[in-house]
Amino acid sequence: MYNIVVASHTFCKLMSFWCRLLHASLTSCHLLAGYKSFKLFINNEWHDAVSKKTFPTINPATGEVICEVVEGSKEDVDKAVKAAKEAFRLGSPWRRMDASQRGRLLNLLADAIERDAAYLAVSDCWFILTQSMQIHICGLVFCRYYAGWADKWEGKTIPVDGDYFCYTRHEPIGVCGQIIPWNFPLLMQAWKLAPALATGNTIVMKVAEQTPLTALYVASLIKEVGFPPGVVNIIAGMGPTAGAAISSHMDIDKIAFTGSTEVGHLIQQASGSSNLKKVSLELGGKSPNIILSDANMEEAVEQAHNAIFFNQGQCCCAGSRTYVQENIYNEFVERSVERAKKRVVGDPFNLKTDHGPQVDDEQFQKILGYISSGKKEGAKLMCGGGVAADRGYFIQPTIFGEVQDDMKIAREEIFGPVMQILKFKSIEEVIERANDTKYGLAAAVFTTDVNKAHYVSNSLRAGTVWINCYNVFGVQAPFGGYKASGAGREMGEYGLEHYTEVKTVTVKIPQKNS
Ligand code: ADP
Repeated sequence: MYNIVVASHTFCKLMSFWCRLLHASLTSCHLLAGYKSFKLFINNEWHDAVSKKTFPTINPATGEVICEVVEGSKEDVDKAVKAAKEAFRLGSPWRRMDASQRGRLLNLLADAIERDAAYLAVSDCWFILTQSMQIHICGLVFCRYYAGWADKWEGKTIPVDGDYFCYTRHEPIGVCGQIIPWNFPLLMQAWKLAPALATGNTIVMKVAEQTPLTALYVASLIKEVGFPPGVVNIIAGMGPTAGAAISSHMDIDKIAFTGSTEVGHLIQQASGSSNLKKVSLELGGKSPNIILSDANMEEAVEQAHNAIFFNQGQCCCAGSRTYVQENIYNEFVERSVERAKKRVVGDPFNLKTDHGPQVDDEQFQKILGYISSGKKEGAKLMCGGGVAADRGYFIQPTIFGEVQDDMKIAREEIFGPVMQILKFKSIEEVIERANDTKYGLAAAVFTTDVNKAHYVSNSLRAGTVWINCYNVFGVQAPFGGYKASGAGREMGEYGLEHYTEVKTVTVKIPQKNS
């Protein structure tokens, strides 16, 4: 298991080496020097858009344009799907490739990501550097994990009645559309690419318009390590054009989406009104984090802090409703405010920084809107609440106390550094309130009583429950949502199910040797 907040010792050593290296290259303004292209990656070649359009990608720490990226739309998606379909044709090099060789290619991709991790960590340069390195390492861990599965995802032999031999085969689904968000560029890309490739599918991926650079760099690595043309196609572009073209495409067999619940509805609808492509969704959340009165206070404050402020709150499973039992409420709020005030906000490339900018102006304005709504609805602003720098999209770590369940800030996903603290009396009460949401992605409980821990955990309607920890993920363990937080699970063995069709083969067994 790894905790996305805490790095291992070896990892820290590596990171410090890379960071020194990076500092040299960044101050030399060579940020983009390693890029092969900012075009569309189709059939292992770089393409301009049919429309010839481009769009700027912005550095959110400064508001400045980093570079122009080619903007794909429906016609380009059509080209990519054609290439992916051809790569999936029976008898193609990819379809004939041994499963173990697919695993080998994924391992080579992991090697290349590892080699260029420092570079990738600054590609969509808004992540704070220290976290970015960890997240990128997680991305390559995904490739390695699923590389191992490539020749181990076995079918079964089934003891059917009669003189028959029955077995199942796990076959690839075909052309998979994958639409990813901006909050963890490489990680989201690896989550989707690795299981799909391990199981032998071909891919048309649309990357988020806010963070196209990491994915395009990975595209060049995909070509470098030897994936056949058409197996992976990567399109940068907008949601309503390129994204919608993927979700409604008649030749795409499966779609995997990570993003907002609003767009999740559109993806399901597009599947329903086109070819009923299979759909897996990882959507929004409003995750409850429950602190019981017997919890270790210091641990609970620190974990609750990271649960909401990690990645500036731009995390689908952020612990955004912190429920605290009434007899420890005042102390918890006081300590949480103290902790939030210590958070160093600033330049993402400074190693002392632990809080960078929000991804773009739209998110920035949206979060400020939620903060004023919290004030208007009567929540008590305990710290922060404003803009944290005179340029870029920085927001102060913000804490609201005395939050009530029906306030907008307690019901809607803010996706920003805004902590809501709510008071509760009894365990039964908090369970009911925690479950009173359309979402069900994650939850946590802090207590030193093992019985209470399991009782609360079993009662919560969420795909992941952490006990005395938060944001701990294992590539081996599934992740996904109940209710409007999604459909299906990613990661681990469960993650392979979404990329395979199960074929039942039944063979008549002759009873005499004729
Ligand atoms: P956010 O609001 O956090 O940006 P979105 O759900 O809007 O989250 O975006 C996640 C991904 O979905 C992005 O790649 C985006 O371009 C894409 N997207 C947005 N709208 C649509 C749509 N109508 N159809 C398909 N994809 C879309």
